Amino acid sequence: MNETGNLSINSENFLPIIKKWLYTDKDIFLRELVSNACDAVTKLQKLNVMGEVELPADETYAIKVVLNPDNQTLQIIDNGIGMTDDEIKKYINQIAFSGATDFMSKYQEKMDSEGEIIGHFGLGFYSAFMVADKVEIDTLSYQEGATPAKWSCEGGIDYAMEDGTRAERGTTITLFLGEDGKEFMDEAVLYAGLQKYCSFMPVSIFMDVEKEATEEEIAAEKAESNTLHITPEEAEGLTKDDALEKLAEQNKEIEPEPLNDTNPLWQRQPKDCTDEDYKAFYHKVFADRNDPLFWIHLNMDYPFRLKGILYFPKLVEQMDVMEGEIKLYANQVYIADNIKEVVPEFLLLLKGVLDCPDMPLNVSRSALQNDGYVDKMNKYITKKVGDKMVQLFKNEREQYESFWDDIGIFIKYGCMREEKLYDKVKDALLFKTTDDVYETLPEYLEKNKEKHENKLFFVTDENQQIQYIRMFKEQGLEAVILSTPVDKPFSSFLEFKNPDVKVQRIDADIADTLQEKDEDASEAKKQADAFLNETLQTKFRSLVGSENLKVSVESLKAENVSAMLLLSEESRRMMEMMEQYAQNPEMKAMFAEQIKPEETLVLNRSNPLVKTYLSLQEQETKQEDCALISRQLYDLALMSHRALTSSEMTAFLDRSNVLLGKLASLELNQ
Ligand code: ADP
Repeated sequence: MNETGNLSINSENFLPIIKKWLYTDKDIFLRELVSNACDAVTKLQKLNVMGEVELPADETYAIKVVLNPDNQTLQIIDNGIGMTDDEIKKYINQIAFSGATDFMSKYQEKMDSEGEIIGHFGLGFYSAFMVADKVEIDTLSYQEGATPAKWSCEGGIDYAMEDGTRAERGTTITLFLGEDGKEFMDEAVLYAGLQKYCSFMPVSIFMDVEKEATEEEIAAEKAESNTLHITPEEAEGLTKDDALEKLAEQNKEIEPEPLNDTNPLWQRQPKDCTDEDYKAFYHKVFADRNDPLFWIHLNMDYPFRLKGILYFPKLVEQMDVMEGEIKLYANQVYIADNIKEVVPEFLLLLKGVLDCPDMPLNVSRSALQNDGYVDKMNKYITKKVGDKMVQLFKNEREQYESFWDDIGIFIKYGCMREEKLYDKVKDALLFKTTDDVYETLPEYLEKNKEKHENKLFFVTDENQQIQYIRMFKEQGLEAVILSTPVDKPFSSFLEFKNPDVKVQRIDADIADTLQEKDEDASEAKKQADAFLNETLQTKFRSLVGSENLKVSVESLKAENVSAMLLLSEESRRMMEMMEQYAQNPEMKAMFAEQIKPEETLVLNRSNPLVKTYLSLQEQETKQEDCALISRQLYDLALMSHRALTSSEMTAFLDRSNVLLGKLASLELNQ
């Protein structure tokens, strides 16, 4: 049989367009051709099971990817179902072609309007022309009496068909690699591409490189095959026959290993997988030597199919953002990583594999976002994650607590993104306290209800805020630590969800329990206090240069604390927002002017230094010293509140030296 023909009337531009549009992801042809080969084998196996064809029980199915750098060819060889020439006409000349052109027109449209199609899925057989100048199909159908058929096409619109040469059932696709495909003549590039797309395809895949060995290589191999590798001890007393036997053993061909895992862990039943299996799979797929903390095996068949494994990794030290990796597969064929239109956003912080065979991958990304399937899948995954948290919290609290530092960020982020997740896990959300214990919000509130009602005190920096923490601890109070970037929005979120609870940073206010009860409640005392506060306030305002500063003299239980700065919770949040939005110092200054933070300097009357300082105030001649001490008191308070700027720090150090100098000379003169 000899036949030539045209692929279609208006197809002149077709192949050049394929090349142009898909230039960036050229390696996709590997996925398309190898998965076609897999399909061909799977179809044959199905026919076998149905009794449509009878194959020997020990039949082995395999796909070979053979590179021949000398001929510049790449072959994908399978022993699957094969094709008759009629089938080539139907599947390759018509269906595959119209499939590809249809895909192209869609792709072109979407590129202009709706963005990319995930992984260019659906391009199929004709993706071969992204890398090849000429493609040949040599195939023999499984059907009885079938004759081999051959098809070839040189990248134009013309194809040729003739009798084929294949003697065994299956298909050989030969790509004559062109300029655009020359990188795949590099063994390593080819191997990497196969690893990327085919690592979990369901039929064994072997890669082979056919190279004419040079004369030296042949000689070296011959010498090698005649050399017995044994130690002198082993050689002792060895007969010639023994030696020949050993040599034969040594030269025995090692069975080649397929490059893929045909039965990936996610496809198995969870009850058949051990912890070791899960860990080994994680190490291999994510190239992470650490063990994951725990995992969730998703295994759903109805009402839609979804399989996969989600891993909760250990947080990498010193990293603010977690970087996850969610690999998407369709029937064990790799599609892409981290597709935010498909996976719930919070999952992108995790690592895992998802196999979604029913996902409509040939629509654009934006269409996927509104897809019912994606929506159902997200709901299901979110539910599974929530269930796992609650189950760990209820049944393995100790272990759950030990994971919390690593998974907390993820859960908090997830709660803010997915209402349903919050609803599920809200009572399993933990807070680490300044006493190093983990409590839920209800537990914290219950424990502290006698000291303060419906308030959640938190610290953002345990070092910076140590003075407040110490005061809290001395009075048997506790605060929770909310120190990660996600905690800022999360504390507002928490308040929004629990309107009865006030979430407040430890330095926003003095808890009632920290204050000494004032015995003298007379009007005269009140007036005197007000006058004192007023006088000091005027002094401090001009000293510090802040018109909004308030000063208040109080009696705190903690005698060792001289002064404290309080910044109301509202002001602090406004300031933080400003930090986030102000793009330059001028803007910052403008915002600060408008916000007028409510800052209060509390001077502790119970502290010996403050006591002396207050009496010094009354002496006319000591005003200079008083100013020095005032400024120092203010800085001491400021230091427990935030880090000093470099100029503030310089002034503080200079002043400390002056003050110590004065103290030393006083001592000397006594
Ligand atoms: P798709 O795989 O999405 O159907 P393709 O363009 O990749 O589209 O292939 C078109 C058709 O050609 C396939 O559906 C199949 O019937 C046939 N085909 C392609 N490759 C092979 C192969 N290696 N063995 C048997 N049939 C094949």
